[in-house]
Amino acid sequence: MPVPPRPRARIAVLGSANMDLVAYTRRAPARGETVTGEAFRTGAGGKGANQAIAAARAGGAVVMLGAVGDDDFGPRLRGALDSAGVDTARLRTVPGASGTAHIVVDGDGGNAIVVVPGANGTVTELADADLHAVAAADTLLLQLELPLAGVLAGALAARRHGVRTVLTPAPVVPLPDELLAATDLLLPNEHEAEALTGRADPHTAARALLDAVPDVVVTLGAKGCLWAARGKEPLTVPAPAAAAVDTTAAGDTFAGALAVALAENRPMPDALTWASAAAALSVEREGAAASMPERAEIDARAA
Ligand code: ATP
Repeated sequence: MPVPPRPRARIAVLGSANMDLVAYTRRAPARGETVTGEAFRTGAGGKGANQAIAAARAGGAVVMLGAVGDDDFGPRLRGALDSAGVDTARLRTVPGASGTAHIVVDGDGGNAIVVVPGANGTVTELADADLHAVAAADTLLLQLELPLAGVLAGALAARRHGVRTVLTPAPVVPLPDELLAATDLLLPNEHEAEALTGRADPHTAARALLDAVPDVVVTLGAKGCLWAARGKEPLTVPAPAAAAVDTTAAGDTFAGALAVALAENRPMPDALTWASAAAALSVEREGAAASMPERAEIDARAA
């Protein structure tokens, strides 16, 4: 008998879309100085768009909620999401500039970044159709590059409809109790975990965060990740060995793949192994969205 096709994980992402404007220079300019750079590239980014593309490549049916501007970048950002198969019908176009990230990468690979939220800053509430899109999802992915009021509106809608919420607390800000109460899984990197708790040790930080949310996964870069859940022994999942060339958006790739695996009802340890394989693949390739693996590649790496 033929095996019925597995239903696709339904993922809603409420988050930012930014055009990354990247200048490469041997030396970053000091204040008041002008330097001549070596190269320039643009690319779709923003934690929301990155997580949406990662989840779509990982096999999810993904809806993107948020806003782009009516400038030249708006259609490019929408197009990048469309070509990854993300549903952008609910992504608003608003008057003014799209979100932009102005990134200077120096000869040592260090960077300095100014993010101008632009259209992302208008997402302070959700339309009824956005709320329906959240309600129809298995999992809602959230980050903090939108106004907190918008993030909270999404989280509360998800909570009302029994939709799992996964919050990446980046950029890190003090998290309102109401948002924490509507968060099922908090997904900080180790720096964010420390900033939120004041605890440098990720195990201690994760334990402290369990006071506020039932599940915490702290990503630890090349060291892997750590899962802590109320009433369970913490679990560390090592990262697969990877020849890292560019770790941009590793965390977003991890988040997108993890959301898909959890929405497919895979147990957390399996889901973490699979997300770690996705993130390892992404660090072996240049770029943000360009580096994100397809489902078959993740399956092969995780096998
Ligand atoms: P970014 O800001 O670059 O998107 P992040 O700081 O949010 O990343 P990290 O903790 O650095 O998140 O990385 C996320 C996940 O990516 C890790 O848990 C790990 O699975 C994977 N990863 C990161 N760096 C490496 C590496 N060098 N080798 C293998 N896997 C890696």
